[in-house]
Amino acid sequence: MSFITSLQNSLPAWLLHVLQLALWLVLLTALFAPLERWFALHPGKLLRRQIGMDVGYYFLSSLLPAALLSLPVALMATAGQALMPAAWRQALQALPWWALLLAGIVLADFGAYWGHRLCHEIPWLWRFHAIHHSAEHMDFMVNTRAHPVDMVVVRMFALAPVTLLGLGGANAQGSLLPAVITIVAAMSGFFVHANLRCRLGALEWLVTSPAFHHWHHSRVEHINRNYAATFPWIDRIFGTHHLPAEWPSQYGLAEPGPTTLATQLIGPFGFAPGRIADAAAIHAADAAQVHQSR
Ligand SMILES: [Zn+2]
Ligand SMILES: [Zn+2]
Repeated sequence: MSFITSLQNSLPAWLLHVLQLALWLVLLTALFAPLERWFALHPGKLLRRQIGMDVGYYFLSSLLPAALLSLPVALMATAGQALMPAAWRQALQALPWWALLLAGIVLADFGAYWGHRLCHEIPWLWRFHAIHHSAEHMDFMVNTRAHPVDMVVVRMFALAPVTLLGLGGANAQGSLLPAVITIVAAMSGFFVHANLRCRLGALEWLVTSPAFHHWHHSRVEHINRNYAATFPWIDRIFGTHHLPAEWPSQYGLAEPGPTTLATQLIGPFGFAPGRIADAAAIHAADAAQVHQSR
């Protein structure tokens, strides 16, 4: 029996999962740390302020939302299967696996766009999502900084169209769709947050880039733009696209919120100081202005 197999048999499943996540974190760091050093947009260090907190978020946001979402996603998939007409099911089954995969990823991005946009426009949801926007320096680890409530809302919106339309269970490949969508979103998430002076030229019409998402993190001015996770043309369709040639000069919130993992997790529920609530009020006024100016 190999060392890996004996380790798998002797350790509890949750500990194995944590070890797997730790290994992924090492691999992600090995990929992004040199890139962010060679092609840095702003001067930065790997072991910067709040990095410990973001490592905490990395484990939390990898474990908790998946556990919380398993039941609602299974229920949505069952409802989708029960409600779908037989002709629709046959049409889906006739599709090649790559078409199903592509349709699933595009539909999930439409769902995620609206989940993310509502997190900006509904003040109660903004309290949770503001945690993600609290980062004042961008790097790949900022991707992990998200309150579990924020993550659950956006992922529910991403997976709802896929599961309700039956794409998740259309065939053997389709049943892997939710996992594939989560992995695509995670990898694109690490890339677009990275501290990389990297423009994609004409490709920026098609897929999101660090510049596209950095504008979404700009302090106040363009925070209500660029909601899409993977496909920026979704923002063009809904009138929220903003991608000039330059980069934003400042990141973060107009008003600083809680700065520790514990206070950030509890704060949005209303037990902590009202600073995040103030940010929500400012943000709601800003969002209204953006809509009027369209
Ligand atoms: Zn946002
Ligand atoms: Zn972000």
